[in-house]
Amino acid sequence: MSAELISKLTAKMRQIDGVGFGGSPTLTSQDVAGALAGAHRYGYLLVLAKYADDNTSSQLLWTELAQEIAKDRGIDYEKARGIALACIFPVISPMRCHHCYGRGTIYPRSKGQTREEAAYPCRHCEGTGRGEISERQKASMAQIASTTWHDTWKHYAAKKEQFLWSLESSVLGRLRAQLQDVA
Ligand SMILES: [Zn+2]
Repeated sequence: MSAELISKLTAKMRQIDGVGFGGSPTLTSQDVAGALAGAHRYGYLLVLAKYADDNTSSQLLWTELAQEIAKDRGIDYEKARGIALACIFPVISPMRCHHCYGRGTIYPRSKGQTREEAAYPCRHCEGTGRGEISERQKASMAQIASTTWHDTWKHYAAKKEQFLWSLESSVLGRLRAQLQDVA
Protein backbone atom coordinates (compact mmCIF):
# COMPACT_ATOMS: atom_id res chain seq x y z
CA MET A 1 0.00 0.00 0.00
CA SER A 2 1.35 3.43 -0.93
CA ALA A 3 2.62 5.89 1.66
CA GLU A 4 0.19 8.47 0.32
CA LEU A 5 -2.82 6.22 0.92
CA ILE A 6 -1.66 5.47 4.42
CA SER A 7 -1.16 9.10 5.33
CA LYS A 8 -4.62 9.98 3.98
CA LEU A 9 -6.12 7.12 5.95
CA THR A 10 -4.40 8.20 9.17
CA ALA A 11 -5.43 11.82 8.71
CA LYS A 12 -9.06 10.87 8.13
CA MET A 13 -9.11 8.49 11.11
CA ARG A 14 -7.88 11.33 13.33
CA GLN A 15 -10.47 13.65 11.90
CA ILE A 16 -13.38 11.31 12.60
CA ASP A 17 -12.12 10.43 16.05
CA GLY A 18 -11.50 14.01 17.07
CA VAL A 19 -8.82 14.82 19.60
CA GLY A 20 -8.16 11.24 20.67
CA PHE A 21 -5.24 10.77 18.34
CA GLY A 22 -3.83 14.30 18.36
CA GLY A 23 -0.08 14.20 18.02
CA SER A 24 0.05 10.45 17.58
CA PRO A 25 2.40 9.10 14.93
CA THR A 26 1.28 8.16 11.47
CA LEU A 27 0.35 4.58 10.76
CA THR A 28 2.96 2.64 8.87
CA SER A 29 2.15 0.24 6.09
CA GLN A 30 2.90 -2.61 8.53
CA ASP A 31 0.37 -1.20 10.99
CA VAL A 32 -2.26 -0.98 8.31
CA ALA A 33 -1.43 -4.40 6.94
CA GLY A 34 -1.66 -5.78 10.47
CA ALA A 35 -5.00 -4.11 11.11
CA LEU A 36 -6.42 -5.28 7.82
CA ALA A 37 -5.08 -8.82 7.95
CA GLY A 38 -8.03 -11.14 8.04
CA ALA A 39 -10.51 -8.33 7.33
CA HIS A 40 -13.18 -9.10 4.76
CA ARG A 41 -12.04 -7.91 1.34
CA TYR A 42 -15.04 -5.63 0.89
CA GLY A 43 -14.32 -4.01 4.25
CA TYR A 44 -10.73 -3.38 3.25
CA LEU A 45 -11.73 -1.90 -0.12
CA LEU A 46 -14.53 0.13 1.43
CA VAL A 47 -12.34 1.74 4.06
CA LEU A 48 -9.67 2.66 1.51
CA ALA A 49 -12.32 4.04 -0.83
CA LYS A 50 -14.06 6.04 1.85
CA TYR A 51 -11.27 7.17 4.13
CA ALA A 52 -8.32 7.38 1.76
CA ASP A 53 -10.32 8.53 -1.29
CA ASP A 54 -8.82 5.63 -3.20
CA ASN A 55 -10.55 5.42 -6.52
CA THR A 56 -9.04 2.05 -7.44
CA SER A 57 -10.50 0.50 -4.30
CA SER A 58 -13.94 1.96 -4.94
CA GLN A 59 -13.94 0.66 -8.52
CA LEU A 60 -12.84 -2.80 -7.35
CA LEU A 61 -15.48 -2.90 -4.66
CA TRP A 62 -18.13 -1.91 -7.16
CA THR A 63 -17.02 -4.53 -9.70
CA GLU A 64 -16.67 -7.36 -7.20
CA LEU A 65 -19.99 -6.70 -5.48
CA ALA A 66 -21.72 -6.48 -8.88
CA GLN A 67 -20.19 -9.83 -9.89
CA GLU A 68 -21.42 -11.36 -6.67
CA ILE A 69 -24.95 -9.98 -7.13
CA ALA A 70 -25.06 -11.09 -10.79
CA LYS A 71 -24.12 -14.62 -9.79
CA ASP A 72 -26.27 -14.69 -6.70
CA ARG A 73 -29.43 -13.52 -8.46
CA GLY A 74 -28.76 -14.84 -11.97
CA ILE A 75 -28.92 -11.41 -13.63
CA ASP A 76 -26.77 -9.49 -16.13
CA TYR A 77 -23.57 -8.00 -14.84
CA GLU A 78 -24.60 -4.57 -16.19
CA LYS A 79 -27.85 -4.63 -14.27
CA ALA A 80 -26.05 -5.89 -11.17
CA ARG A 81 -23.70 -2.89 -11.34
CA GLY A 82 -26.64 -0.57 -10.82
CA ILE A 83 -27.83 -2.51 -7.81
CA ALA A 84 -24.31 -2.71 -6.39
CA LEU A 85 -24.01 1.06 -6.70
CA ALA A 86 -27.23 1.54 -4.74
CA CYS A 87 -25.76 -0.65 -1.97
CA ILE A 88 -22.33 0.99 -1.89
CA PHE A 89 -23.12 4.65 -2.40
CA PRO A 90 -25.04 5.20 0.87
CA VAL A 91 -22.07 3.74 2.78
CA ILE A 92 -19.29 5.58 0.96
CA SER A 93 -21.10 8.92 0.69
CA PRO A 94 -23.64 8.97 3.51
CA MET A 95 -26.02 11.87 3.77
CA ARG A 96 -25.73 13.89 6.94
CA CYS A 97 -28.66 13.91 9.32
CA HIS A 98 -30.04 17.44 9.09
CA HIS A 99 -31.41 17.40 12.63
CA CYS A 100 -28.00 17.09 14.27
CA TYR A 101 -25.84 18.22 11.32
CA GLY A 102 -24.23 14.80 11.17
CA ARG A 103 -22.90 14.94 14.73
CA GLY A 104 -25.28 12.31 16.09
CA THR A 105 -25.70 14.47 19.20
CA ILE A 106 -28.02 17.35 19.99
CA TYR A 107 -26.63 20.19 22.08
CA PRO A 108 -29.57 22.14 23.48
CA ARG A 109 -29.14 25.56 25.05
CA SER A 110 -29.54 25.17 28.76
CA LYS A 111 -28.66 27.22 31.79
CA GLY A 112 -26.61 25.73 34.58
CA GLN A 113 -25.33 22.82 32.50
CA THR A 114 -22.30 22.59 30.30
CA ARG A 115 -22.71 21.86 26.63
CA GLU A 116 -21.63 18.25 27.25
CA GLU A 117 -23.98 17.77 30.21
CA ALA A 118 -26.99 18.98 28.24
CA ALA A 119 -26.15 16.87 25.17
CA TYR A 120 -28.27 13.90 24.18
CA PRO A 121 -28.23 11.50 21.21
CA CYS A 122 -30.20 12.59 18.16
CA ARG A 123 -33.47 10.66 17.92
CA HIS A 124 -33.82 11.09 14.18
CA CYS A 125 -30.67 9.21 13.25
CA GLU A 126 -30.35 7.23 16.51
CA GLY A 127 -27.02 8.90 17.16
CA THR A 128 -25.36 7.75 13.94
CA GLY A 129 -25.34 11.21 12.35
CA ARG A 130 -26.48 9.68 9.09
CA GLY A 131 -29.35 10.91 6.97
CA GLU A 132 -31.46 8.56 4.91
CA ILE A 133 -31.08 8.12 1.19
CA SER A 134 -34.61 7.40 0.00
CA GLU A 135 -35.60 4.18 -1.73
CA ARG A 136 -36.57 6.30 -4.72
CA GLN A 137 -33.05 7.66 -4.94
CA LYS A 138 -31.63 4.14 -4.64
CA ALA A 139 -33.92 2.86 -7.40
CA SER A 140 -32.79 5.74 -9.56
CA MET A 141 -29.12 4.97 -8.87
CA ALA A 142 -29.75 1.36 -9.79
CA GLN A 143 -31.65 2.49 -12.90
CA ILE A 144 -34.57 0.32 -11.92
CA ALA A 145 -38.22 1.41 -11.87
CA SER A 146 -39.36 2.35 -8.36
CA THR A 147 -42.05 -0.34 -8.23
CA THR A 148 -39.63 -3.07 -9.32
CA TRP A 149 -37.09 -1.78 -6.85
CA HIS A 150 -39.64 -1.89 -4.09
CA ASP A 151 -40.91 -5.39 -4.94
CA THR A 152 -37.66 -7.11 -5.87
CA TRP A 153 -34.58 -5.27 -4.68
CA LYS A 154 -35.23 -3.09 -1.68
CA HIS A 155 -34.73 -5.76 0.99
CA TYR A 156 -31.92 -7.47 -0.82
CA ALA A 157 -30.01 -4.19 -1.21
CA ALA A 158 -30.70 -3.20 2.39
CA LYS A 159 -29.06 -6.43 3.58
CA LYS A 160 -26.00 -5.85 1.42
CA GLU A 161 -25.77 -2.26 2.60
CA GLN A 162 -26.05 -3.36 6.21
CA PHE A 163 -23.29 -5.90 5.64
CA LEU A 164 -21.03 -3.16 4.26
CA TRP A 165 -21.73 -0.94 7.28
CA SER A 166 -20.82 -3.77 9.63
CA LEU A 167 -17.59 -4.45 7.71
CA GLU A 168 -16.70 -0.78 7.90
CA SER A 169 -17.10 -0.63 11.64
CA SER A 170 -15.08 -3.79 12.10
CA VAL A 171 -12.18 -2.53 9.96
CA LEU A 172 -12.26 0.91 11.61
CA GLY A 173 -12.18 -0.80 14.99
CA ARG A 174 -9.04 -2.68 13.99
CA LEU A 175 -7.38 0.50 12.68
CA ARG A 176 -8.30 2.41 15.82
CA ALA A 177 -6.76 -0.26 17.99
CA GLN A 178 -3.63 -0.04 15.86
CA LEU A 179 -3.48 3.75 16.18
CA GLN A 180 -3.79 3.47 19.95
CA ASP A 181 -0.95 0.98 19.96
CA VAL A 182 1.41 3.28 18.12
CA ALA A 183 0.30 6.42 20.00
ZN1 LIG B 1 -29.25 13.10 13.75
